[in-house]
Amino acid sequence: MDMTAVVKTEHFDVLIVGAGISGIGGAYHMTHQMPGSSYVVLEAEETFGGTWWTHTYPGIRSDSDLHTFGYRFKAWVGAPIATADEILKYMGDVIEENDLAPHIRYKHRIARALWSSKDALWTIEATRTDTGEQFRFTCNFLWMCQGYYRHSEGYTPEWKGMESYKGRIAHPERWPADLDYKGKNVVVIGSGATAATVVPAMAEDVAHITMLQRSPTYFRAGRNAIEIAETLRELQIDETWIHEITRRKILHDQSVFAKRTFEEPEKVRDELLAGVRAHLGPDYDIDTHFTPSYRPWRQRLAFVPDGDLFKGIASGKASVVTDEIETFTETGLKLKSGQQLDADIVVTATGFNLCPLGDIAFSIDGKALDFHDTVTYRGMMFTGVPNMIWVFGYFRASWTLRADLVADFVCKLMKHMRSKNARQVNVALRPEDKDMPLLDWIDSDNFNPGYMLRGMHLLPRRGDKPEWMHTQDYWSEKDEIPATNLDDAAFVYA
Ligand SMILES: Cc1cc2nc3c(=O)[nH]c(=O)nc-3n(C[C@H](O)[C@H](O)[C@H](O)COP(=O)(O)OP(=O)(O)OC[C@H]3O[C@@H](n4cnc5c(N)ncnc54)[C@H](O)[C@@H]3O)c2cc1C
Repeated sequence: MDMTAVVKTEHFDVLIVGAGISGIGGAYHMTHQMPGSSYVVLEAEETFGGTWWTHTYPGIRSDSDLHTFGYRFKAWVGAPIATADEILKYMGDVIEENDLAPHIRYKHRIARALWSSKDALWTIEATRTDTGEQFRFTCNFLWMCQGYYRHSEGYTPEWKGMESYKGRIAHPERWPADLDYKGKNVVVIGSGATAATVVPAMAEDVAHITMLQRSPTYFRAGRNAIEIAETLRELQIDETWIHEITRRKILHDQSVFAKRTFEEPEKVRDELLAGVRAHLGPDYDIDTHFTPSYRPWRQRLAFVPDGDLFKGIASGKASVVTDEIETFTETGLKLKSGQQLDADIVVTATGFNLCPLGDIAFSIDGKALDFHDTVTYRGMMFTGVPNMIWVFGYFRASWTLRADLVADFVCKLMKHMRSKNARQVNVALRPEDKDMPLLDWIDSDNFNPGYMLRGMHLLPRRGDKPEWMHTQDYWSEKDEIPATNLDDAAFVYA
């Protein structure tokens, strides 16, 4: 970037990258936990929402319940599984009720972040996406809420013959606004939460829709309602109480469930499959289409509210094919079994491209940062990267549970720095950590979605001690993170 054209440099104590659910949460916590500190949120898109703003495919909704995907500080009053619009409305209410809007700058895409130890400052270079104007900011602390995947393009594998296909190919991450699928034959490639959402949402309007999967996924079907919340509402209990009690109940049930997936995976598997069978009947080939080879919860488990995916299949409007693509043809797909699937539209629900640092070029004292060279402190901070925190949420539990936990941690850390008169904090391996084996960011035996495996070389490494691991375990972190001893030798202040 040619910074000679820079208009001015503005300084803030804290700069938050991104106005998705994590960044708006960060702004809330800055306002309430750090009054008197200045902060700004820079967001590349034209408005807030992140994931919930950029995704517009049919049926787009959460697969987590909003009592736990919502913030702990703002009651969720709707049905637990929410549409993107409902989530955006909820976030908009948080912005309005807490007067966060003056702190947010939209259409600011950050290209570079440069740390100077001499000045104990980050310099952030951003460009206005509409005018091309360039801006420079300095801040003491960088709060990274940029998410984990590239919003501008989804992941589409290279298949043979794609160029010869005469129909339209659409990726759910950039859904074409003009895509008319009424009366058309559609094939959706993929079997994750996105495919499970798109298929029932499109089923009514299309001629036929086929979910083509290489291998099956675990689904959990259930009513889009939470009994305890319904009962408490009937009793006219205050919504803030309902939110907290329902959160606790959901988290309790999830912890029991998660434990069972490790202790008695076969039994859990049988229960999940029985749930699918109850919708599809005794004659449906569940073994082929809905019985994964992996242990439940090794990948995100997709919730099917009110069984809508299965209802679509049972009605005959939707079907599932479990096979591999041999090649695209002019009219659709030829599968390895020899079957031909004709399609006017192919939807590639094939996942993300991992993008750990929001495509921002980082440098530390003039040296380009390779994130893979760093070791993570609890998946939040990184050796050799001072005054920076990254909000990377949970996958098995709701993302936002961790966004709230990390926010508390960073506010406490910044207050601690103030009390010590420290201008910078770094995490560093202690003498006892020096021979610690350095491993991949996440244990792929424990959790192994494709985008993570494809991008492991872009991610920091972890050690084998709790401080240096990224456990993705809410139930241990909810106690461990708040109890962090900020005077431990792993924190180096200057
Ligand atoms: C379709 C879909 C459904 C999901 N459903 C769930 C669910 O039900 N439950 C769950 O727990 N998780 C779910 N997830 C995961 C989800 O991404 C997170 O839960 C959460 O929304 C992420 O929020 P975030 O604010 O951390 O990041 P994001 O939502 O990705 O927002 C990051 C923001 O940062 C901005 N940004 C990035 N780089 C830059 C830059 N260089 N300069 C300026 N701005 C930048 C982006 O424009 C974006 O607005 C889902 C993901 C997808 C894609």
